[in-house]
Amino acid sequence: MSTTSAGRIQRLSPRVVGKIAAGEMIDRPVAVVKELVENALDAGATRVTVQVEGSLDRLLTVIDDGVGMTSDEVRLAVERHATSKIREVEDLFRLHTLGFRGEALAAIGAVSALTITTLARDDADGTVPATQLEMVGGELLEVRETSRTAGTTIEVRDLFFNVPVRRKFLKTERGELRVAMRLISHLALSHPGVRIAFDRVGTSSMVYEATDDLRSRVGDVYGRDTARRMLDVDGGRDLVRVEGLVGAPDQSRATRDFQVTIVNGRPVVSPLLNHAIKLGYGDLIPPDRHPMAVLHLTVDPGEVDVNVHPTKREVKFAKEGLVFDAVRRAVAGALTALAPTRPAEPTWTSDRVREPGTGADAAPSDAPDGTREGDDSPESGGQQLWLGGTVPRADRPPSTEAVLGFQAPTVPVRPTDDDPMRARSVARPDEPKFWQLHKRYIFAQTGSGVIVIDQHAAHERILYERAMARLEGTPPTTQQFLIPEQLELTSSEEELLEELAPELRKLGFEIESFGPRTILVRAIPDDIHAWDKGQLLRDLLDEYVHAGRSVRAVRERLARAFACRGAVKSGTALAPEEMRALIDALFATETPHGDPHGRATLIQMSLDELDRRFGRS
Ligand code: ADP
Ligand code: MG
Repeated sequence: MSTTSAGRIQRLSPRVVGKIAAGEMIDRPVAVVKELVENALDAGATRVTVQVEGSLDRLLTVIDDGVGMTSDEVRLAVERHATSKIREVEDLFRLHTLGFRGEALAAIGAVSALTITTLARDDADGTVPATQLEMVGGELLEVRETSRTAGTTIEVRDLFFNVPVRRKFLKTERGELRVAMRLISHLALSHPGVRIAFDRVGTSSMVYEATDDLRSRVGDVYGRDTARRMLDVDGGRDLVRVEGLVGAPDQSRATRDFQVTIVNGRPVVSPLLNHAIKLGYGDLIPPDRHPMAVLHLTVDPGEVDVNVHPTKREVKFAKEGLVFDAVRRAVAGALTALAPTRPAEPTWTSDRVREPGTGADAAPSDAPDGTREGDDSPESGGQQLWLGGTVPRADRPPSTEAVLGFQAPTVPVRPTDDDPMRARSVARPDEPKFWQLHKRYIFAQTGSGVIVIDQHAAHERILYERAMARLEGTPPTTQQFLIPEQLELTSSEEELLEELAPELRKLGFEIESFGPRTILVRAIPDDIHAWDKGQLLRDLLDEYVHAGRSVRAVRERLARAFACRGAVKSGTALAPEEMRALIDALFATETPHGDPHGRATLIQMSLDELDRRFGRS
């Protein structure tokens, strides 16, 4: 007789089934926030408050002033597949609510200690008491009478107390809180008419006041200045309405996080819509940037399938092409508001372009400190260079052997005033011959041939090593802004900034908080090129908001992101001094040959090889 470890087939008990199902729906603490706030919105609340004590999985409370439940209803509500929102399959295609599966409360109740206190609006005349229900680990403990005004309060304690394995896989508490903040901000953008508050008891709270103006809500979420500059979208017709706001091209971001697509009131993740938005911008935004957008789509519910994902994050459109087109056109239409000032070239290249020798015509430097203005006029000498420090005047003694001899000298990564590499950063009027190809590659003659350097990759390598050295204790060199730059952040960015602040300080950022969700930047590392009015800092934060894990563990990642975001971009014209300084600094790094992503920074070709290819040898 053979035995297997699997044993005989048996029906699972309802408790086991419930717990397995709960795991699908409530896979992490933020899922509870989502389900409870959605329920409150479905209940027609005008005010929703989310309270967290400690962390999301310790005690989370959601309070609303919605329709509430009667005592019978609340007993049903915690059962699996109990919902007031649909009755028939067909109802799925007439859906006007966020929920419909009737599983959330049951799932939450299965893996926590759940208390629901509720009074139905219809019973709010004082004749009927409110109801309080308690459930622990899927077991109904008690239903009693209590008092409450109309609405519902749901408390979730000790989430996953009976699923120890799940606990082990939880991300950091702060990371989870950040994700929750982002989620709440998305729900806030989908329901501007509802006052939504997020209260971290004893720490901080934030409130989105009710408004009938989406722009005002966007301002609460992304900052007033940001919202003011965004463009109105009003497009599509009968089958698909597309309304909302999109960012100006120069408000683009490093991630798609700032594209909130809302279909019939439901924030959804949709690569299709993201793509349509991007196409709406044409060539106004470089391929690796993402426009900001808050778009409300109104589609006949019969044309959308919301039941394609357990947490209803994704939707499927019956007529994808139609929706895609409507969005792309609506976005493109919004951008025509910019037409009179739209430059012939894509704005993202004109932003930083400096043709050597045409400093006066080039786009003005975006740094308000005046010192960086100087890098538009390479001839002036002695100006502040983005590579850090000052370029000595051309009449100082030159020393070019390091580059031309193709030797990697061992000098400190961080430039100081007596740094030997500074001395090499000098151009004699008659030399050297640096030549920039297509604003992307630098050619230079070496002792034995030619090297071709990828300007962005090279600068990344330099910044990466400097960043690592600084994070490990080398003091940074900074440039002070004459007028500190003011930056607006989202609440999750602000929360993250708090955590990242010590590391950012080490890198050379001087930042202080300045009112709610606004910071002042007093100084930045002196060797970054792409500050772009704070875009760099935002990009760094955006990359981390997602991470959801401990910042300390990811120092290297920070250095990488800093290097990538701060480095001179391909497409930037460089003056000979800038090329020289870049090459000098590159050869002062420990690994000049590759950037931190493992790509080559340079290619060399020897005279021998050229001779061979021309048949000289
Ligand atoms: P679903 O939202 O998919 O219907 P849930 O398990 O989230 O399923 O909720 C079950 C039912 O409980 C809902 O259909 C609704 O009738 C009721 N309910 C849940 N939360 C609230 C609330 N905050 N206010 C009023 N009714 C609620
Ligand atoms: Mg629900």
